[in-house]
Amino acid sequence: MQPATELGLLHLSPCWDVVVVGAGPAGALAAHGLAIRGLRVLLVEQRLFPRWKVCGACLSPQALAALEAAGLPDLVASQGGLSLERLQLGVAGLVSPIAMGAGRVLSRCRLDQALLEAASAAGATVLMGTRAVLGAAATGLEPDREVVLQKGTARRSVSAKVVLIAAGLSHRAIDDKAGISTSIEPRSRFGAGCVLSGEAAALPPGVLQMAVGRSGYVGMVRVESGEINLACAFDQGMLRSAGGASLLCQKILAEAGFATLPGLKEADWQLTAALSRRTIPLAGHRLLLLGDAAGYVEPFTGEGMGWALTSALAALPLVMRSMEQWDGAIEKEWRRLHHRWVTSQQRSCRALAVVLRHPKISLGLHRLAGGFPSVTSSMIGMLQRPSIPYSRA
Ligand SMILES: Cc1cc2nc3c(=O)[nH]c(=O)nc-3n(C[C@H](O)[C@H](O)[C@H](O)COP(=O)(O)OP(=O)(O)OC[C@H]3O[C@@H](n4cnc5c(N)ncnc54)[C@H](O)[C@@H]3O)c2cc1C
Repeated sequence: MQPATELGLLHLSPCWDVVVVGAGPAGALAAHGLAIRGLRVLLVEQRLFPRWKVCGACLSPQALAALEAAGLPDLVASQGGLSLERLQLGVAGLVSPIAMGAGRVLSRCRLDQALLEAASAAGATVLMGTRAVLGAAATGLEPDREVVLQKGTARRSVSAKVVLIAAGLSHRAIDDKAGISTSIEPRSRFGAGCVLSGEAAALPPGVLQMAVGRSGYVGMVRVESGEINLACAFDQGMLRSAGGASLLCQKILAEAGFATLPGLKEADWQLTAALSRRTIPLAGHRLLLLGDAAGYVEPFTGEGMGWALTSALAALPLVMRSMEQWDGAIEKEWRRLHHRWVTSQQRSCRALAVVLRHPKISLGLHRLAGGFPSVTSSMIGMLQRPSIPYSRA
């Protein structure tokens, strides 16, 4: 898995069964599943791994079930993933403990690297440090779809029977002419995050601390290295008026009833694009969108990776079918499958995101959590009940 060199790009085969753009959980798991099934897969990633990414690093039971169905049941444990046992929810100065289901915590550096290695071991060709942009839909005698690869000043086109766009929240993989548009939901929050040293908080392993404030929320958890992973969703206006991510984070922690953390100001904060969004259409000629690239809802319930991995699994049979022939029915079927396995699951999270913006309602929910922890635990369990397209690849 060397970074692509300009020479490497020139020597790359021009024709592939599948090109997957983006090696996050959606892209890497799709590449793994298709390579195992004998397809010639090129997985292209613009960054070099291991890399950190803004994410709460909590794997839901859904995410773990998807990995198991893909034949990778031990991947998280083998990387040192910790059990996620308890949520400490802080709202308006009140902090309540809530028992969690069977989730795990693993840093994105480790998880994404391990998934990439699994895809490579399954036979996928991996190009790192290379940006891919979807090319025009071919017509007439050239039925394949073009992808333009860029590394430094080198450019190279390859073609594939199917292209999977799994590029996360980035718009850069699809140019404006492709006829795919993303609408950002009004008042969508923005993601932000950083890593703090292990001494920054007295947070035991296995505990997710979630601070809910008027202008967003902050989730923090200790990862396998002992460091503290912070992931936040912020109102954009407040991010500006508070004077930046570290100050807004401090404000939300204080409002919620948690102690402030040393090192927030000096930390290397990363911001994301707007979070809540819908993309239309989810498929085009020889093209499917997966994971966050197909639409996302703000991360309060921590299920984005579960949706991303599930969408990768759901796409596999369709991609296999499309090796024979592509027809419009595949695009329609992907919209149906994506709705069944992802969009319908996102509804409850979308509703929760709206509720959390109303301080009185979220305080009411919080009192419910404090007074009836078992009810809240089972509500969380309901949101997190795993459901996967099929068992064991
Ligand atoms: C604040 C916050 C907290 C979160 N907490 C959690 C949580 O605790 N649990 C959870 O399950 N989910 C969480 N999520 C959501 C989770 O991070 C995403 O849903 C998940 O990463 C989606 O995976 P993906 O594979 O679709 O995209 P990504 O993980 O974003 O991967 C996309 C990859 O594509 C690459 N790429 C982009 N453009 C190109 C291009 N043109 N060419 C080549 N490569 C490209 C990127 O570099 C990236 O590596 C959180 C998100 C945020 C913002």
